[in-house]
Amino acid sequence: MEVKKKVRVSLDNPSIGRINERCINCGVCYEICEHQVGIDHSRESNEPSCINCGACVQACPRGALVTKYNYKGILNLLKDTDKRIAISVAPAVRVSLGEELGFPLGTNIENLLPSILRHLGFEYTFDVTFGADVTVMEEATELLMRLENRTNLPIFTSCCPSWVKYAGMYHPELLPNLSTAKSPIGMMSTLIKTYFREMNMIEDEIISVVVAPCTSKKYEILDGDTDYVITTRELAYMIKECNIDIPSLKPSEFDYLMGHGSKSAVMFGRSGGVMEAVLSTAYYLKTKKTPKQGTFRIPPASGLEKRTFKFGNRLINVAVIAGMTNLEEILKSKEDYDVIEVMNCKGGCIGGGGQPLGPKSSEIERLDTRIRALDNSDNDIIYAYQNRQIEELYEYYLTMEKRESLHTVHKNLSHLVKPKKEDINE
Ligand code: SF4
Ligand code: SF4
Ligand code: SF4
Repeated sequence: MEVKKKVRVSLDNPSIGRINERCINCGVCYEICEHQVGIDHSRESNEPSCINCGACVQACPRGALVTKYNYKGILNLLKDTDKRIAISVAPAVRVSLGEELGFPLGTNIENLLPSILRHLGFEYTFDVTFGADVTVMEEATELLMRLENRTNLPIFTSCCPSWVKYAGMYHPELLPNLSTAKSPIGMMSTLIKTYFREMNMIEDEIISVVVAPCTSKKYEILDGDTDYVITTRELAYMIKECNIDIPSLKPSEFDYLMGHGSKSAVMFGRSGGVMEAVLSTAYYLKTKKTPKQGTFRIPPASGLEKRTFKFGNRLINVAVIAGMTNLEEILKSKEDYDVIEVMNCKGGCIGGGGQPLGPKSSEIERLDTRIRALDNSDNDIIYAYQNRQIEELYEYYLTMEKRESLHTVHKNLSHLVKPKKEDINE
Protein backbone atom coordinates (compact mmCIF):
# COMPACT_ATOMS: atom_id res chain seq x y z
CA MET A 1 0.00 0.00 0.00
CA GLU A 2 1.18 3.50 -0.83
CA VAL A 3 2.48 5.29 2.27
CA LYS A 4 1.00 8.80 2.47
CA LYS A 5 1.94 11.68 4.70
CA LYS A 6 0.38 11.67 8.14
CA VAL A 7 0.30 14.35 10.81
CA ARG A 8 3.15 14.22 13.32
CA VAL A 9 2.01 14.10 16.93
CA SER A 10 4.33 15.02 19.77
CA LEU A 11 4.29 12.90 22.92
CA ASP A 12 3.54 15.93 25.07
CA ASN A 13 0.53 17.05 23.00
CA PRO A 14 -2.11 17.49 25.73
CA SER A 15 -5.04 16.91 23.35
CA ILE A 16 -4.29 14.04 20.98
CA GLY A 17 -2.10 10.96 20.65
CA ARG A 18 -1.53 8.19 18.09
CA ILE A 19 -1.61 4.41 18.49
CA ASN A 20 0.93 3.53 15.79
CA GLU A 21 -0.09 -0.13 15.46
CA ARG A 22 -3.51 0.92 14.21
CA CYS A 23 -2.26 3.36 11.56
CA ILE A 24 -2.60 2.26 7.91
CA ASN A 25 -0.79 5.31 6.48
CA CYS A 26 -3.87 6.43 4.58
CA GLY A 27 -3.01 10.14 4.78
CA VAL A 28 -6.53 11.26 5.73
CA CYS A 29 -5.30 13.10 8.84
CA TYR A 30 -2.71 15.07 6.88
CA GLU A 31 -5.28 16.06 4.24
CA ILE A 32 -7.76 17.25 6.87
CA CYS A 33 -5.12 19.09 8.87
CA GLU A 34 -3.63 20.90 5.89
CA HIS A 35 -6.73 21.63 3.79
CA GLN A 36 -9.66 21.76 6.22
CA VAL A 37 -7.96 23.04 9.38
CA GLY A 38 -5.45 25.16 7.45
CA ILE A 39 -2.11 24.18 8.99
CA ASP A 40 0.84 25.05 6.75
CA HIS A 41 2.99 21.95 7.16
CA SER A 42 5.65 23.38 4.84
CA ARG A 43 6.57 25.69 7.74
CA GLU A 44 6.70 22.90 10.30
CA SER A 45 9.79 23.03 12.52
CA ASN A 46 11.18 20.29 14.78
CA GLU A 47 7.97 20.66 16.75
CA PRO A 48 4.85 19.26 14.97
CA SER A 49 2.49 22.10 14.01
CA CYS A 50 -0.78 21.47 15.80
CA ILE A 51 -3.56 23.70 17.09
CA ASN A 52 -5.09 20.85 19.11
CA CYS A 53 -8.48 20.93 17.38
CA GLY A 54 -9.05 17.16 17.17
CA ALA A 55 -10.33 17.22 13.57
CA CYS A 56 -7.84 14.48 12.64
CA VAL A 57 -9.14 12.28 15.48
CA GLN A 58 -12.67 12.61 14.15
CA ALA A 59 -11.50 11.77 10.61
CA CYS A 60 -9.07 8.88 11.25
CA PRO A 61 -10.72 5.74 9.80
CA ARG A 62 -8.84 3.33 12.08
CA GLY A 63 -9.10 5.02 15.45
CA ALA A 64 -5.31 5.40 15.39
CA LEU A 65 -5.56 9.03 16.41
CA VAL A 66 -7.16 9.39 19.81
CA THR A 67 -8.11 12.10 22.27
CA LYS A 68 -5.94 12.15 25.40
CA TYR A 69 -8.35 11.25 28.17
CA ASN A 70 -8.32 12.70 31.68
CA TYR A 71 -11.57 11.23 32.96
CA LYS A 72 -10.06 8.15 34.65
CA GLY A 73 -7.91 10.42 36.81
CA ILE A 74 -10.98 12.43 37.73
CA LEU A 75 -12.91 9.29 38.70
CA ASN A 76 -10.02 8.50 41.06
CA LEU A 77 -10.02 12.04 42.46
CA LEU A 78 -13.75 11.76 43.14
CA LYS A 79 -13.08 8.76 45.40
CA ASP A 80 -11.02 11.01 47.69
CA THR A 81 -13.67 12.55 49.91
CA ASP A 82 -11.23 15.15 51.26
CA LYS A 83 -11.02 16.85 47.86
CA ARG A 84 -13.51 19.59 46.96
CA ILE A 85 -14.20 19.31 43.26
CA ALA A 86 -16.28 21.62 41.07
CA ILE A 87 -17.40 20.87 37.54
CA SER A 88 -18.63 23.43 35.00
CA VAL A 89 -20.47 22.49 31.82
CA ALA A 90 -19.85 24.32 28.52
CA PRO A 91 -22.84 25.46 26.42
CA ALA A 92 -22.58 22.96 23.54
CA VAL A 93 -22.45 19.89 25.81
CA ARG A 94 -26.13 20.12 26.84
CA VAL A 95 -27.41 19.42 23.32
CA SER A 96 -24.93 16.70 22.35
CA LEU A 97 -24.21 14.54 25.41
CA GLY A 98 -27.65 12.94 25.04
CA GLU A 99 -26.54 11.36 21.74
CA GLU A 100 -24.18 9.12 23.73
CA LEU A 101 -26.85 8.26 26.31
CA GLY A 102 -29.67 7.08 24.07
CA PHE A 103 -31.61 10.34 23.74
CA PRO A 104 -32.78 11.41 20.25
CA LEU A 105 -30.41 13.71 18.34
CA GLY A 106 -30.81 17.33 19.47
CA THR A 107 -32.25 16.60 22.92
CA ASN A 108 -31.31 19.32 25.40
CA ILE A 109 -30.54 17.60 28.73
CA GLU A 110 -29.49 20.76 30.59
CA ASN A 111 -31.93 20.13 33.44
CA LEU A 112 -30.59 16.59 34.03
CA LEU A 113 -26.92 17.55 33.98
CA PRO A 114 -26.65 18.86 37.58
CA SER A 115 -28.22 15.62 38.93
CA ILE A 116 -25.95 13.46 36.77
CA LEU A 117 -22.85 15.34 37.94
CA ARG A 118 -23.86 15.19 41.61
CA HIS A 119 -24.40 11.42 41.26
CA LEU A 120 -20.88 11.15 39.86
CA GLY A 121 -19.67 12.77 43.08
CA PHE A 122 -18.93 16.39 42.15
CA GLU A 123 -19.52 18.68 45.13
CA TYR A 124 -20.23 21.82 43.11
CA THR A 125 -21.89 21.98 39.70
CA PHE A 126 -21.78 25.15 37.61
CA ASP A 127 -22.80 26.35 34.18
CA VAL A 128 -20.11 27.81 31.90
CA THR A 129 -22.78 30.12 30.49
CA PHE A 130 -22.19 32.22 33.63
CA GLY A 131 -18.52 32.54 32.61
CA ALA A 132 -19.60 33.33 29.04
CA ASP A 133 -21.70 36.23 30.37
CA VAL A 134 -18.60 37.55 32.18
CA THR A 135 -16.57 37.23 28.96
CA VAL A 136 -19.29 39.22 27.19
CA MET A 137 -19.30 42.00 29.80
CA GLU A 138 -15.52 42.37 29.60
CA GLU A 139 -15.25 42.04 25.82
CA ALA A 140 -18.12 44.47 25.17
CA THR A 141 -16.40 47.04 27.41
CA GLU A 142 -13.13 46.46 25.56
CA LEU A 143 -14.86 46.87 22.18
CA LEU A 144 -16.41 50.20 23.17
CA MET A 145 -13.05 51.51 24.41
CA ARG A 146 -11.30 50.49 21.21
CA LEU A 147 -14.01 52.04 19.04
CA GLU A 148 -13.78 55.24 21.07
CA ASN A 149 -9.96 55.40 20.95
CA ARG A 150 -9.69 53.90 17.46
CA THR A 151 -7.03 51.44 18.65
CA ASN A 152 -6.38 47.77 17.92
CA LEU A 153 -9.28 47.37 15.51
CA PRO A 154 -10.65 45.08 14.32
CA ILE A 155 -11.06 43.36 17.67
CA PHE A 156 -10.90 39.56 17.31
CA THR A 157 -12.76 37.25 19.69
CA SER A 158 -10.46 34.99 21.68
CA CYS A 159 -12.51 32.19 23.24
CA CYS A 160 -11.29 29.56 20.75
CA PRO A 161 -7.84 28.32 21.88
CA SER A 162 -7.12 26.76 18.48
CA TRP A 163 -7.52 30.17 16.86
CA VAL A 164 -5.51 31.92 19.59
CA LYS A 165 -2.67 29.39 19.11
CA TYR A 166 -2.88 29.79 15.32
CA ALA A 167 -2.61 33.57 15.71
CA GLY A 168 0.41 33.17 18.00
CA MET A 169 2.14 30.82 15.53
CA TYR A 170 1.34 32.37 12.14
CA HIS A 171 0.13 35.94 12.82
CA PRO A 172 1.79 37.32 15.96
CA GLU A 173 1.26 40.82 14.54
CA LEU A 174 -2.47 40.31 15.23
CA LEU A 175 -2.07 39.52 18.94
CA PRO A 176 -2.72 43.13 20.12
CA ASN A 177 -6.06 42.93 18.27
CA LEU A 178 -7.30 39.85 20.14
CA SER A 179 -9.66 40.50 23.02
CA THR A 180 -7.80 40.06 26.31
CA ALA A 181 -10.94 38.82 28.10
CA LYS A 182 -10.46 35.26 29.36
CA SER A 183 -12.49 32.54 27.70
CA PRO A 184 -15.69 31.42 29.49
CA ILE A 185 -13.93 28.44 31.09
CA GLY A 186 -11.05 30.68 32.14
CA MET A 187 -13.55 33.05 33.78
CA MET A 188 -15.27 30.16 35.56
CA SER A 189 -12.13 28.72 37.13
CA THR A 190 -10.74 32.09 38.23
CA LEU A 191 -14.05 33.04 39.82
CA ILE A 192 -14.64 29.62 41.43
CA LYS A 193 -11.26 29.91 43.15
CA THR A 194 -11.81 33.50 44.29
CA TYR A 195 -15.38 34.82 44.24
CA PHE A 196 -17.23 31.56 44.97
CA ARG A 197 -14.77 30.52 47.69
CA GLU A 198 -14.76 33.91 49.37
CA MET A 199 -18.52 34.38 49.26
CA ASN A 200 -19.07 30.93 50.76
CA MET A 201 -16.14 31.23 53.21
CA ILE A 202 -14.57 28.00 51.91
CA GLU A 203 -11.02 27.65 53.20
CA ASP A 204 -10.02 24.54 51.24
CA GLU A 205 -8.76 24.69 47.69
CA ILE A 206 -11.34 23.83 45.04
CA ILE A 207 -10.30 21.70 42.06
CA SER A 208 -11.90 23.09 38.90
CA VAL A 209 -12.93 20.60 36.21
CA VAL A 210 -14.59 21.66 32.96
CA VAL A 211 -16.54 19.53 30.51
CA ALA A 212 -16.21 20.95 27.01
CA PRO A 213 -16.91 19.92 23.40
CA CYS A 214 -13.30 20.72 22.66
CA THR A 215 -9.94 18.94 22.69
CA SER A 216 -8.15 22.27 22.35
CA LYS A 217 -9.29 23.38 25.80
CA LYS A 218 -6.88 20.74 27.18
CA TYR A 219 -4.15 22.89 25.64
CA GLU A 220 -5.67 26.20 26.82
CA ILE A 221 -5.56 25.14 30.47
CA LEU A 222 -1.80 24.59 30.45
CA ASP A 223 -1.98 28.23 31.63
CA GLY A 224 -4.63 29.53 34.00
CA ASP A 225 -6.82 28.33 36.86
CA THR A 226 -8.61 25.31 35.33
CA ASP A 227 -7.22 22.01 36.62
CA TYR A 228 -8.76 19.52 34.16
CA VAL A 229 -10.80 19.49 30.96
CA ILE A 230 -12.79 16.47 29.89
CA THR A 231 -14.67 16.29 26.59
CA THR A 232 -18.35 15.53 26.03
CA ARG A 233 -17.35 11.98 25.03
CA GLU A 234 -15.32 11.52 28.22
CA LEU A 235 -18.26 12.61 30.36
CA ALA A 236 -20.39 9.99 28.58
CA TYR A 237 -17.77 7.31 29.40
CA MET A 238 -17.80 8.38 33.06
CA ILE A 239 -21.59 8.12 33.21
CA LYS A 240 -21.55 4.67 31.61
CA GLU A 241 -18.68 3.35 33.75
CA CYS A 242 -20.44 4.54 36.91
CA ASN A 243 -23.74 2.98 35.78
CA ILE A 244 -25.70 6.17 36.42
CA ASP A 245 -29.37 5.33 35.95
CA ILE A 246 -30.45 8.41 33.97
CA PRO A 247 -34.23 7.66 33.87
CA SER A 248 -34.33 7.60 37.68
CA LEU A 249 -32.88 11.13 37.96
CA LYS A 250 -34.98 14.20 38.63
CA PRO A 251 -34.32 17.54 36.90
CA SER A 252 -32.42 20.04 39.04
CA GLU A 253 -30.45 23.28 38.76
CA PHE A 254 -26.77 24.16 38.81
CA ASP A 255 -25.41 25.72 42.02
CA TYR A 256 -26.22 29.29 42.93
CA LEU A 257 -23.81 32.18 42.39
CA MET A 258 -22.34 30.79 39.16
CA GLY A 259 -25.04 28.47 37.95
CA HIS A 260 -26.96 30.43 35.38
CA GLY A 261 -26.18 32.28 32.17
CA SER A 262 -28.21 34.22 29.64
CA LYS A 263 -29.67 32.85 26.43
CA SER A 264 -26.99 34.73 24.50
CA ALA A 265 -24.34 32.89 26.55
CA VAL A 266 -25.89 29.53 25.60
CA MET A 267 -25.45 30.61 21.97
CA PHE A 268 -21.67 30.68 22.49
CA GLY A 269 -21.97 27.01 21.55
CA ARG A 270 -22.48 27.89 17.91
CA SER A 271 -20.64 30.12 15.48
CA GLY A 272 -22.03 33.68 15.45
CA GLY A 273 -23.06 33.37 19.11
CA VAL A 274 -20.15 35.30 20.61
CA MET A 275 -20.57 38.08 18.05
CA GLU A 276 -24.30 38.47 18.77
CA ALA A 277 -23.78 38.42 22.53
CA VAL A 278 -20.92 40.95 22.52
CA LEU A 279 -22.60 43.38 20.10
CA SER A 280 -25.92 43.25 21.99
CA THR A 281 -24.30 43.99 25.34
CA ALA A 282 -21.97 46.65 23.90
CA TYR A 283 -25.02 48.30 22.30
CA TYR A 284 -26.79 48.36 25.67
CA LEU A 285 -23.73 49.69 27.52
CA LYS A 286 -23.42 52.48 24.95
CA THR A 287 -27.07 53.47 24.48
CA LYS A 288 -28.79 52.10 27.63
CA LYS A 289 -31.35 50.60 25.26
CA THR A 290 -32.01 46.87 25.00
CA PRO A 291 -31.68 45.75 21.39
CA LYS A 292 -34.60 43.89 19.87
CA GLN A 293 -33.88 40.15 19.97
CA GLY A 294 -32.16 39.06 16.78
CA THR A 295 -30.84 42.54 15.89
CA PHE A 296 -27.25 41.31 15.76
CA ARG A 297 -27.97 37.70 14.79
CA ILE A 298 -25.77 36.09 12.17
CA PRO A 299 -26.44 32.54 10.95
CA PRO A 300 -23.78 30.02 12.01
CA ALA A 301 -20.90 30.24 9.57
CA SER A 302 -19.91 27.11 7.73
CA GLY A 303 -17.20 29.33 6.30
CA LEU A 304 -17.51 33.08 6.36
CA GLU A 305 -20.38 35.51 7.01
CA LYS A 306 -20.10 39.31 6.75
CA ARG A 307 -22.60 41.93 7.96
CA THR A 308 -22.94 45.67 8.51
CA PHE A 309 -25.06 46.79 11.49
CA LYS A 310 -26.29 50.17 12.65
CA PHE A 311 -24.66 50.69 16.04
CA GLY A 312 -25.84 53.87 17.77
CA ASN A 313 -24.92 56.71 15.45
CA ARG A 314 -22.43 54.73 13.37
CA LEU A 315 -22.18 51.62 11.23
CA ILE A 316 -20.16 48.63 12.32
CA ASN A 317 -18.69 46.01 9.98
CA VAL A 318 -18.32 42.49 11.29
CA ALA A 319 -17.30 39.04 10.08
CA VAL A 320 -17.92 35.59 11.55
CA ILE A 321 -15.45 32.91 10.51
CA ALA A 322 -15.31 29.15 10.93
CA GLY A 323 -11.94 27.64 10.06
CA MET A 324 -8.49 29.09 9.50
CA THR A 325 -8.60 28.90 5.69
CA ASN A 326 -11.51 31.36 5.72
CA LEU A 327 -9.62 33.52 8.18
CA GLU A 328 -6.72 33.90 5.75
CA GLU A 329 -9.21 35.19 3.18
CA ILE A 330 -10.60 37.89 5.47
CA LEU A 331 -7.14 38.99 6.64
CA LYS A 332 -6.49 40.36 3.16
CA SER A 333 -9.00 43.14 3.93
CA LYS A 334 -9.10 43.13 7.73
CA GLU A 335 -8.97 46.96 7.89
CA ASP A 336 -12.56 46.97 6.58
CA TYR A 337 -13.86 45.35 9.79
CA ASP A 338 -14.50 46.42 13.37
CA VAL A 339 -15.18 43.02 14.97
CA ILE A 340 -14.19 39.53 13.78
CA GLU A 341 -15.32 36.32 15.47
CA VAL A 342 -13.07 33.35 14.77
CA MET A 343 -13.88 29.74 15.66
CA ASN A 344 -11.94 26.78 14.40
CA CYS A 345 -14.68 24.18 14.07
CA LYS A 346 -17.53 23.86 11.57
CA GLY A 347 -20.60 25.52 13.05
CA GLY A 348 -18.50 26.56 16.08
CA CYS A 349 -18.06 24.54 19.28
CA ILE A 350 -21.11 22.46 18.50
CA GLY A 351 -18.85 20.71 15.95
CA GLY A 352 -15.86 20.49 18.31
CA GLY A 353 -13.31 17.67 18.34
CA GLY A 354 -14.56 16.30 21.68
CA GLN A 355 -18.18 15.92 20.62
CA PRO A 356 -19.94 12.58 20.05
CA LEU A 357 -18.83 10.97 16.80
CA GLY A 358 -21.11 9.84 14.00
CA PRO A 359 -20.99 8.98 10.32
CA LYS A 360 -19.50 11.65 8.05
CA SER A 361 -22.56 11.33 5.78
CA SER A 362 -24.86 12.70 8.50
CA GLU A 363 -22.47 15.36 9.82
CA ILE A 364 -24.42 18.35 8.47
CA GLU A 365 -27.73 17.06 9.84
CA ARG A 366 -26.07 16.39 13.21
CA LEU A 367 -24.63 19.91 13.44
CA ASP A 368 -27.86 21.58 12.25
CA THR A 369 -29.95 19.65 14.78
CA ARG A 370 -27.63 20.55 17.66
CA ILE A 371 -27.69 24.22 16.59
CA ARG A 372 -31.50 24.21 16.46
CA ALA A 373 -31.59 22.70 19.94
CA LEU A 374 -29.40 25.55 21.24
CA ASP A 375 -31.54 28.13 19.42
CA ASN A 376 -34.70 26.66 21.00
CA SER A 377 -33.36 26.46 24.55
CA ASP A 378 -35.64 28.08 27.15
CA ASN A 379 -34.25 31.04 29.04
CA ASP A 380 -35.97 34.11 30.51
CA ILE A 381 -32.71 36.06 30.60
CA ILE A 382 -31.65 37.11 27.13
CA TYR A 383 -28.49 39.19 27.61
CA ALA A 384 -25.53 39.11 30.00
CA TYR A 385 -26.35 42.47 31.62
CA GLN A 386 -29.86 41.20 32.50
CA ASN A 387 -28.46 38.23 34.46
CA ARG A 388 -29.00 38.86 38.19
CA GLN A 389 -26.03 36.61 39.08
CA ILE A 390 -23.82 38.79 36.85
CA GLU A 391 -25.20 41.99 38.39
CA GLU A 392 -24.34 40.64 41.86
CA LEU A 393 -20.79 39.76 40.76
CA TYR A 394 -20.13 43.26 39.41
CA GLU A 395 -21.99 45.08 42.18
CA TYR A 396 -20.65 43.30 45.26
CA TYR A 397 -17.33 41.77 44.29
CA LEU A 398 -15.47 43.01 41.24
CA THR A 399 -13.25 46.02 41.89
CA MET A 400 -11.17 47.42 39.02
CA GLU A 401 -8.20 45.48 40.39
CA LYS A 402 -10.12 42.21 40.54
CA ARG A 403 -11.37 42.77 37.00
CA GLU A 404 -7.74 42.61 35.83
CA SER A 405 -7.66 38.94 36.85
CA LEU A 406 -10.36 38.34 34.22
CA HIS A 407 -7.92 39.22 31.43
CA THR A 408 -5.01 37.36 29.89
CA VAL A 409 -1.95 37.92 27.72
CA HIS A 410 -1.76 36.08 24.38
CA LYS A 411 1.59 34.50 23.59
CA ASN A 412 3.77 34.98 20.53
CA LEU A 413 4.44 31.39 19.37
CA SER A 414 6.16 32.19 16.08
CA HIS A 415 9.23 30.23 17.27
CA LEU A 416 7.14 27.07 16.76
CA VAL A 417 7.04 27.51 12.97
CA LYS A 418 9.64 28.30 10.34
CA PRO A 419 9.51 31.81 8.81
CA LYS A 420 7.68 32.28 5.50
CA LYS A 421 9.89 31.87 2.41
CA GLU A 422 9.27 35.53 1.42
CA ASP A 423 10.48 36.68 4.83
CA ILE A 424 13.73 34.70 4.50
CA ASN A 425 14.46 36.22 1.06
CA GLU A 426 13.97 39.81 2.22
S1 SF4 B 1 -5.82 9.05 9.39
FE1 SF4 B 1 -5.33 7.55 10.98
S2 SF4 B 1 -4.84 5.69 9.86
FE2 SF4 B 1 -4.76 7.36 8.37
S3 SF4 B 1 -2.59 8.03 8.36
FE3 SF4 B 1 -3.65 9.29 9.87
S4 SF4 B 1 -3.35 8.21 11.81
FE4 SF4 B 1 -2.90 6.75 10.20
S1 SF4 C 1 -5.40 18.23 16.19
FE1 SF4 C 1 -5.97 19.60 14.47
S2 SF4 C 1 -4.14 20.82 14.12
FE2 SF4 C 1 -3.50 19.08 15.38
S3 SF4 C 1 -2.78 17.56 13.91
FE3 SF4 C 1 -4.96 17.13 14.29
S4 SF4 C 1 -6.06 18.25 12.68
FE4 SF4 C 1 -3.98 19.07 12.75
S1 SF4 D 1 -14.44 26.18 17.85
FE1 SF4 D 1 -14.92 25.61 19.97
S2 SF4 D 1 -14.68 23.38 20.01
FE2 SF4 D 1 -13.64 24.10 18.15
S3 SF4 D 1 -11.50 24.38 18.80
FE3 SF4 D 1 -12.53 26.35 19.04
S4 SF4 D 1 -13.21 26.39 21.18
FE4 SF4 D 1 -12.73 24.26 20.67
